[in-house]
Amino acid sequence: MEFTKDVSRPDPGNHALESSAAALIESSAAIACIFDARGKITYVSPSVERVLGYAPEEVIGRPGLELVHSEDARALSRRVTGATDESDSRPMEFRALHKDGSWRWLEMSFVDLRADPSVEGVVSVHRDITEHKRTQQQLQEAETMYRHLVEILPAIVYTVVPTEDGAWLYVSPQVEAILGYTPEEVKRDGLWNNYLHPEDRSRVLEEEALSRQSGEPFRSEYRLLAHDKRFVWMRDEATLVRSGGEHETVLQGFMVDVTERKCLEEQLVHQAFHDPLTNLANRPLFADRAQHALKLRRAEDAVVAVLFLDLDNFKAINDSLGHRTGDQLLVAVGERITDCLRAADTAARLGGDEFAILFENASDDSVVSVAQRILQELARPFELVASRVFITASAGLAFCSSVSEESDDLLRNADVAMYRAKSEGKGRYAIFEESMHSQLLDRLRLESELRIAIDEGQFVVHYHPLMDLASGAICGAEALVRWQHPHQGLLPPGDFIHIAEECGLIHLIGKWVLDEACRAAQKWRSIFDLGDEFSISVNLSARQLQRSDLIQHVSGALQESGLPAHRLTLEITESVLMRDTEATSKQLHGLRELGVKLAVDDFGTGYSSLGYLQSFPIDTLKIDRSFIAGISGGPEDSALARAIVKLGRSLNLETVAEGIEMAEQVSELEVIGCTMGQGFFYTEPLEETKMEALLKRASGEVISSDFQ
Ligand code: C2E
Ligand code: MG
Ligand code: MG
Repeated sequence: MEFTKDVSRPDPGNHALESSAAALIESSAAIACIFDARGKITYVSPSVERVLGYAPEEVIGRPGLELVHSEDARALSRRVTGATDESDSRPMEFRALHKDGSWRWLEMSFVDLRADPSVEGVVSVHRDITEHKRTQQQLQEAETMYRHLVEILPAIVYTVVPTEDGAWLYVSPQVEAILGYTPEEVKRDGLWNNYLHPEDRSRVLEEEALSRQSGEPFRSEYRLLAHDKRFVWMRDEATLVRSGGEHETVLQGFMVDVTERKCLEEQLVHQAFHDPLTNLANRPLFADRAQHALKLRRAEDAVVAVLFLDLDNFKAINDSLGHRTGDQLLVAVGERITDCLRAADTAARLGGDEFAILFENASDDSVVSVAQRILQELARPFELVASRVFITASAGLAFCSSVSEESDDLLRNADVAMYRAKSEGKGRYAIFEESMHSQLLDRLRLESELRIAIDEGQFVVHYHPLMDLASGAICGAEALVRWQHPHQGLLPPGDFIHIAEECGLIHLIGKWVLDEACRAAQKWRSIFDLGDEFSISVNLSARQLQRSDLIQHVSGALQESGLPAHRLTLEITESVLMRDTEATSKQLHGLRELGVKLAVDDFGTGYSSLGYLQSFPIDTLKIDRSFIAGISGGPEDSALARAIVKLGRSLNLETVAEGIEMAEQVSELEVIGCTMGQGFFYTEPLEETKMEALLKRASGEVISSDFQ
């Protein structure tokens, strides 16, 4: 086809138009090109040189496909040759060979004018789109890279429309690995509607609304229900960004699975507020709950109560069975306590063997009955790994009384009541009353004064003569301790012995009394003519009997004083003998081996079986004052005293009557066969100098009731 020739051929009618079209084509940045029916280039505009580096002459006459990239050639020729209808004349892109060997992207539009006899070819226009293509490719690469990055992050990246019920525009595929829902499901159903934890819902919605209103970034942590029904803790952070698309702004963010971190946090919090051994609440958590309950109570006027519980003699179990068993016992105690409680109550271990229970919103009666039940449950034997353990507990119960009460007060009051339960005999509970406070303070003061008294030697021993009833002769004396208190005067043992026992001071006092009594007795024996029978009695408390150094102390006192062992009698009350019989029996036999005599004090008041009288090495029964008091009334009233004397005789034991106050009692005792006694009828207990004066006077004489 001679296109060049044709278009240059002058045509008078079209001349002006043709020449301006030709000028346009020649000056255009696009390449105009005509192929003949066989695809050879018959015309190309000069811009081919700018775009592809060839001068038009270099390409005219060559097959157009020679310059087309092999990968594009087929599609191109198929399109051009098959382009019969309109739709196929869309522009198409291909790579053309630049003269320098590089490839340029061209966009071609063409018109098939092969049937037009004036052209007989395909007329095409080629636009250089290399730059555009490069940018497009770079964009595509960047998108692929970012998408790849987004999709390998261990997070769910998302874009949502920032409205209350915002639609999900994008969610990264990790959502499936993390929550088990496909991105399509999330786009369709969202996450918060169905899967937000009910406890987190209102907080999270509030936070989201707030950030939407303020435009501040949204940051929150909450739980989502995963497909497998687990709750997954999510950290969610999102920011509003301008979007070039359909929506003016979108919310872009990411969610990270922080379940592991949350679990660890929970564990740490748990550890900080729980006792590791029993897993019960610890003191700080208990205090916090109590404080909270009291605050609520102010609003609702509900009952709040604290039970303070302490195991009796736990130390003995720990010491004898070992700490392991002690720990097992504490765990088991914790479980039994918990079993007695409602879900609303809080049980805590405050330390050692101390437990506390907080009752909220319960009635007074139900709290008391739970306290009783706990004590009952704890009294049942514990089957531990190595042993079966019996234990009791003492408990104090305090109800919140005044509106302003603090949790510390409540716990302290319960503690005070527990202290009372202990001093009333353990294994029981006491309910706090205001008066207990001052009593406790008195008691604490007394305790510290007792320590000073021991250091400063404020004790004195008074002596109560022991009489031979028939002859009226003094055959011994009982040492009775008194406390010369700096402010309160002379205090009887009933005012301080039990406290000294409880706070572990009794053995110091007891040792001192023993030394004093032995010294005095031996002195009297050496200066007065008292007969060889004269003996001294000293009272022993339960605590002293438990001590391993008792025998050493007794033999020390005997050696120091020179008193023969069989002139010392140790008095032990019946109830003491009944406790812990094996250890007691061992101690008593040890004392017996020293040669000292043993007496059962206050006999008849222990309400116990009398079997021990045969197994223990006992010499004397001291008949309690209560049996002597009624003795003067005649044979019926003296029946019990008579029975005791008879029992003593049958077991070969001496009997001594305590608390003789009247002459009639003396004669009745003689009738029933009791040979010795003590009492105010003869004299009250005397201080050492008075006792000495009495002994001096009585030395070798028979004395009567008016010897003072
Ligand atoms: P106890 O050993 O049974 O001593 C007898 C108590 O009865 C003494 O009271 C004595 O003063 C009192 N008493 C004696 N005759 C009569 C009487 O005719 N009528 C009345 N109403 N009372 C009489 P005290 O001295 O107050 O001692 C009380 C208890 O304190 C003693 O009872 C004893 O169990 C204990 N005790 C005294 N001294 C010591 C001591 O050094 N160590 C220990 N562990 N306990 C001691
Ligand atoms: Mg006594
Ligand atoms: Mg007595």
